[in-house]
Amino acid sequence: MNRFAYTRAGDVDTALVAHAREPGAQFLAGGTNLVDLIKENIARPDRLVDIGRLPLKTIEETSQGGLRIGALVTNADLAYHPEVERRYPLLSKAILAGASPQLRNMASTGGNLLQRTRCYYFYDPAMPCNKRKPGSGCPAVLGYNRIHAILGTSEGCIAVHPSDMCVALAALEAVVHVKGPSGERAIPFAEFHRLPGETPAQDTTLGAHELVTAVELPAKGFPSHATYLKIRDRESYAFALVSVAAALELDGTTIVTARVALGGVAHKPWRDLEAEALLLGRPAVVATFQAAADRLVKEARGFGCNDFKIELARRAIVRALVTATSGRDVR
Ligand code: SF4
Repeated sequence: MNRFAYTRAGDVDTALVAHAREPGAQFLAGGTNLVDLIKENIARPDRLVDIGRLPLKTIEETSQGGLRIGALVTNADLAYHPEVERRYPLLSKAILAGASPQLRNMASTGGNLLQRTRCYYFYDPAMPCNKRKPGSGCPAVLGYNRIHAILGTSEGCIAVHPSDMCVALAALEAVVHVKGPSGERAIPFAEFHRLPGETPAQDTTLGAHELVTAVELPAKGFPSHATYLKIRDRESYAFALVSVAAALELDGTTIVTARVALGGVAHKPWRDLEAEALLLGRPAVVATFQAAADRLVKEARGFGCNDFKIELARRAIVRALVTATSGRDVR
């Protein structure tokens, strides 16, 4: 752990100025990932800008009929918010599938988006890792890669994004609001996280010194037919091997809107619009779901220890769509 300076900001603009002053500054919110990274010497900030007291802790209605979630709303407060439970049960379920009650009481909405991968090599400073030290190599490709990605990988990195909440936000087509030295902008959720490509050290499309201020949910929340299915090694406090956020709108038994996002399989929550299109106008039956699942994993590639994830993902997609159709997870 390195020595660092500490600033507690009282408003967003003060936080941005303090962060921009030093290239090695980092924002600190709940600290549930960053503090671990600092203790393990993986993150070595010159300054921590504590944003814990910024006025970003409310959930408000938007004029478009959705919800605007402040970046500092805790995961627990978001999951149990009555309007989220009623209108976006997929999001509640995904959040409650992650971490532990203690962590969810501390972890923030913005921090959940920005948590780093749990790749074992990333957390071991004795090992090379392109994400931690660009150009040093990726031992996971030929190493122990049971938890690693099967979609959207590069030779430089096969890590997965660890969040459950983000998989639901991808399916809900949320929008991320950020503020930086050049002002405010809104980033569609699908464009917020990156694939590793040749620059795996960069997890997101956030610009230098930009701060996540809010996440906006559109009006469409799929309150009747949605589920979050998480497959993991133990039933609590474990990251997903594969997860599926499935959301449908049905007209009788015909699918009129379909969203399927996968977690635990890629460097970002994974969606395939062509696979979703295969569901539209089709009856909500297993054969329809299998066709979409086949398309979703068509380009999947295993790296040895994680080959099992391809078939696991295919089966999980079908199971999640069956559950979403029944509506039993949101009653
Ligand atoms: Fe590092 Fe990514 Fe390779 Fe893991 S998979 S060792 S995070 S480069």
